[in-house]
Parts: sequence; structure tokens; C-alpha cells
Amino acid sequence: MSAPTRILVTGGAGFIGSHHVRTLLGPGGPERTEVTVLDKLTYAGNPANLDPVRDHPGFAFVRGDVCDPELVDKLVSEHDQVVHFAAESHVDRSILGAAAFVRTNVLGTQTLLDAALRHSTSRFVHVSTDEVYGSVETGSWRESEPVRPNSPYAASKASSDLIALSYHRTHGLDVRVTRCSNNYGHHHFPEKVVPLFITRLLDGGRVPLYGDGLHVRDWLHVDDHVRGLELVRTAGRPGEVYNIGGGTELTNRQLTELLLDACGADWSRVDRVEDRKGHDRRYSVDCSKITEELGYRPRKDFATGLAETVAWYRENRSWWEPLLAKAAL
Ligand code: NAD
Repeated sequence: MSAPTRILVTGGAGFIGSHHVRTLLGPGGPERTEVTVLDKLTYAGNPANLDPVRDHPGFAFVRGDVCDPELVDKLVSEHDQVVHFAAESHVDRSILGAAAFVRTNVLGTQTLLDAALRHSTSRFVHVSTDEVYGSVETGSWRESEPVRPNSPYAASKASSDLIALSYHRTHGLDVRVTRCSNNYGHHHFPEKVVPLFITRLLDGGRVPLYGDGLHVRDWLHVDDHVRGLELVRTAGRPGEVYNIGGGTELTNRQLTELLLDACGADWSRVDRVEDRKGHDRRYSVDCSKITEELGYRPRKDFATGLAETVAWYRENRSWWEPLLAKAAL
């Protein structure tokens, strides 16, 4: 029998990383796969997200920092592949202070890449964001576009993408970069707009809408994102960037309307607040590369995905209520 594939997943206690780990080790996941999660458990990391796989014989959890070179070196040496999610991920926090973003997102990525190079890691999937391309008024960014990030968060992610790709070009390391649009789904920390609005509305509270509410985002269900990521990990090409989108572009006003509706609330619960500094008007990624090369297509239609997400938050108050204090900026 072939040896198992040992995958180191950084940031695997967060929203998307934990979804990936539950997928890898859950029913229908790839055969003979072992996963170690390396996660610092910042305010955004939640060990409960990994409860469904905690007793899986192929699962291990290590609490630690991706910027810790000794720990990272040891863990990378013990694994075949790295899937790198760990990041400071909230734009508003990066506007309040960028130091943690540069440290974790840039230095942490370089620390992992150096270890991957020393130990000839067979595959390094770097999870990035559509925000690195910056705002686009019309049309959609292709992977060949240069990065033009605007927020400190996006700039730190763009920096990490460039460093990751440089390790492929310079050293031949098998690096694959994914750039996805805005994810939504269950287990999403209640600071981002979808879970923030749902939890506040379910609690009878008010929600803030930035500026004129006409900023446009593409919405991607986390199941579709993880499927796209798995296609890239298993069948993508080294040194390539793949956009992963959800195919549902909405203004924040349209999103708010849908969330109010799903939670049984109306516009009297919305506060119009001053716009976010440097707020990008629109993000949009062209997904023809991953569709044509790897057969990716989003499967979850937004209305169903949103209804399921709201239902999950209704039924899992014990998951999010303890997080509300940590979510406050
Ligand atoms: P998240 O904030 O929910 O989770 C991040 C995880 O990383 C947490 O578990 C946290 O504890 C961990 N972490 C943070 N700093 C660390 C460090 N120094 N060492 C080890 N672990 C650390 O983020 P998410 O929404 O799951 O995003 C995962 C990745 O996907 C990020 O790289 C993010 O930039 C990218 N992304 C997210 C979205 C989205 O819509 N959520 C969209 C595009 C890209």
C-alpha cells in the first residue's frame, strides 16, 4: 500500500482552513491523507472548528506561530505538502494597525517557504485573495494582471504572493497560488460582513452599512472554494496562479437586503456609517483559467447557500455567542 500523503495546514483552526481540514479528513475526502494543523489560535482561530476531526487517526494539532522558524522547520520536514491559510485576514483591523499583517502574512509565508525549500516539500499551496488585484470598475481581473493592492491587508497578501511565486521562479519549488473572492458559509468568525450581520440581526441588534453601500463583491461559498483549492492542490500546475470565484456579484446594499430578508428584519435596523478608508469599489475575478484547466465551476447557488448559512447561525448560537466579545474592534 502507498504511504499516506502528509499535509501541513497552516491556519487550519480558522474559517476556510478548518473547512478544508474537515473536507480532507471527512467522508468523501482523499484516501490515505494525514493532516497536521499549525495554528497560533489568535482571536480568529477556534479549536471547536476542528472537533469533527479531532479523533481521526490521521489528525494532529500543533499550537504555534508560522513565524517561528524552528517549529516551522520541524513540522515542514515531517510533511509532504503545505497548504498555507494562516493570515491576519480582516481589512478593518489592518487599517487600525498593519504590523501583525506584515509579520504573519509576509514573514510567516517566507518562513514556511524557506523550510519548504530546505526539505524539498513536494507542493506548497498558498491561499490568497482577489483583493491583491485592487479595484476594477468593469470587467474582471485575469491571473496575468499585475497586483495593485490598496489596503494594508491586501498589500501584505500581495507581498506574500510575490514571495511565494519567487520561490518557484528562483528555486523551482512547486508553489501554487489561489486568489479567491469573498467567502461565506458556516463557522465564519462574526467580524466579517455576512456573519456580523446575521448574528446582530438574530440578536435583535443593528447593522452598519459602509458609505453609499454600492461597493461590489463576488460571493463564493466556502464549499466551492475548498473544491477549487483541492483541484489546484491535486491537479494544478506549479508556479501558476488560479482565481477562484463564486459567480454572484452583489452590491453591499443588495447583500444587506438579502440578509435582512433571511433574518426577518427590515431597513430600520441598518445604520449608514462613514465609508471604510480607501474602500475598494469593486472586486471581480475571471475564473476561465481554473474552469478550462481543472473543470472548476461553483455549484452552490447564492440563495441556497445564504439560507443554509443563516439556518446554521440560528442553530449554533453556542458556537458564536462566546466569540462576540472577541469580534469587537
Ligand atoms: P481566519 O481569520 O478565519 O483564520 C485565520 C487563521 O490563521 C486563524 O485560525 C488564526 O488563528 C491563524 N493564524 C493567524 N496568525 C497566525 C500565525 N502567526 N501563525 C499561525 N496561525 C495563525 O481567515 P479565513 O477567512 O479562514 O482566511 C484563510 C485564508 O484565506 C487567509 O490567508 C485569507 O487571506 C484568505 N482569504 C480569505 C477570504 C475570506 O473571504 N474569508 C477571501 C480571500 C482570501
